Amino acid sequence: MTARRLRFAHRTALALLASAAVGTFHTSDGMAQTADLVFVNGKVFTADARSSLAEGFAIKDGRFIAAGSSAAMRGHVGAATKVVDLAGRFVAPGLADGHLHGVSGGPGIDLANARSLDELFAVVGRAAKDAQPGAVIVSNSDWHEAQLKEKRLPTARELDQYAPVNPVVLVRGGHEYVLNSAALARWGVTKQTQSPAGGEIGKDEAGELNGELVDNARSLVTLPSQRAPTLDNVLATQRTLNGYGITSVRVPGSFRLGEFFHTLDLVLEARKRDLLTLRFNVNLPAARAGTRLRDPASVRELLARSPLKQDEGDEWVRLGGVKLGVDGGFEGGFMTQPFVGAMGRGGTYYGINTVPAADFTAITRALNQDGWRVTTHAVGDAALDVVLGGYEAANADRSIAGRRWAIEHLFVSRPDQIARLKKLDIALSVQNHLYLAAPSLKKYLGIERASQITPVKTYLEQGFLVVGGTDSPVVPVNPFWQFYHFLTRDTITDGIYGENERVTSRIDLLRMITINYARLTGEADIKGSIEAGKLADFVVLSDDILSVAERAIPQMKALATYVAGKEVYRDPSYQ
Ligand SMILES: [Zn+2]
Repeated sequence: MTARRLRFAHRTALALLASAAVGTFHTSDGMAQTADLVFVNGKVFTADARSSLAEGFAIKDGRFIAAGSSAAMRGHVGAATKVVDLAGRFVAPGLADGHLHGVSGGPGIDLANARSLDELFAVVGRAAKDAQPGAVIVSNSDWHEAQLKEKRLPTARELDQYAPVNPVVLVRGGHEYVLNSAALARWGVTKQTQSPAGGEIGKDEAGELNGELVDNARSLVTLPSQRAPTLDNVLATQRTLNGYGITSVRVPGSFRLGEFFHTLDLVLEARKRDLLTLRFNVNLPAARAGTRLRDPASVRELLARSPLKQDEGDEWVRLGGVKLGVDGGFEGGFMTQPFVGAMGRGGTYYGINTVPAADFTAITRALNQDGWRVTTHAVGDAALDVVLGGYEAANADRSIAGRRWAIEHLFVSRPDQIARLKKLDIALSVQNHLYLAAPSLKKYLGIERASQITPVKTYLEQGFLVVGGTDSPVVPVNPFWQFYHFLTRDTITDGIYGENERVTSRIDLLRMITINYARLTGEADIKGSIEAGKLADFVVLSDDILSVAERAIPQMKALATYVAGKEVYRDPSYQ
């Protein structure tokens, strides 16, 4: 079906509001099956093949048994059935985040609320005053300089004024540290220190250390070991996510909560004790920035530690595959065109290739031979060249098409790469980094390139399976911010970037975080839409996200979230 016909089909589906034909279950004698729970009088986006709207649905034993008109749903009411009147509220399938590491930036001083360098320095200064002599001060990671009035990182010398004695390591996102002079001295980083392969030691225009350690250069620093996460941390994470209407998350190679396998054990423990209200698709870490996994043998050794093999698990925790990486993030995406401004160093800086092409290809071929499904972090188009080389070599050994291989992020790609990706049947996992970091990306890459970052409209038109997400805590977890950004291309502090990439179909955007997610994880037969037979995961929203004014979308919220037919979150304002 062409994009235009698909859009037409969506409109037709809208016009056929509650056509009542959506999967009503009847028993063999023709009587409608009695439900535990029936919802009526809503506007229900089913995310079925036609994106049909319904007025309600019926649930039995944690699964939908029907969706359709209120009248048809009342046919499922028996003596013990609870009936909920939605009073016109909008309902969607449970929302999914296709790329999520955690919900907060971990322990340490909290910079998430700083809106200027002065506010950031005040937090650092207070921590330094309270710190024991010699204690290392570490920050959380879910902040970015684009949120600061000055739109830049602090320098080592500035941090020295507020923390002259204690070493300070500001952890910014997943790819960069900023150190003060005491920290640089503690780990022996000097002007003469060579940047390790796949990393950068930051210097200012005068050639002095500015305190920044990017990607693999972070391995020069050993952060003080943090308290290991507990089961309570996992439960708090899922409570926060349920509060946004999120019922499924795909974890790409790292839990921000703590060490990967320890955290996975906690998730499995929660599953065993029947405590989960969030469904996990977990992808094992290998060959990413900051690790030394450079060859098939060490990758195989790491994967052998996993308590689950690929596709093992159940509808609560399932092992998806392996996550690889080949380049840096905002300031280290590997590009064929150089960075600009100070970052470009006179047109000589192209970002960071964290895993050389030959190593990546060897690892990818080995994983494919072992039957693994692979997804790879690639931000720049040069990174995508590396990934394509590896995927094509693997594909020549054994076809990867139809096996749900994917790419994470893909900020920048070239038209000549698209056909190759399509031929390999690669899915795209995209997030709204630009919403948060637009001013920095403009500074690093120039407005022309920055304005076209993560071109979701183009990716959809090219027919890729596109799945939405946030990369939380790199970008805040809010799914409505993500929806708003892809719909408008608006950014938090710098206006609209790339009007031409606005995704005009709100239905497409909702499908990206519902049924498309389930297709990527191979679970479209059990979730992702409100259809008979599927798990009853759904969310009641504060507004009709298909028609509410654009400017109101970032303030939207979940009013109630259900997983397997059970309420797991309710907004205090919702009766
Ligand atoms: Zn990530």
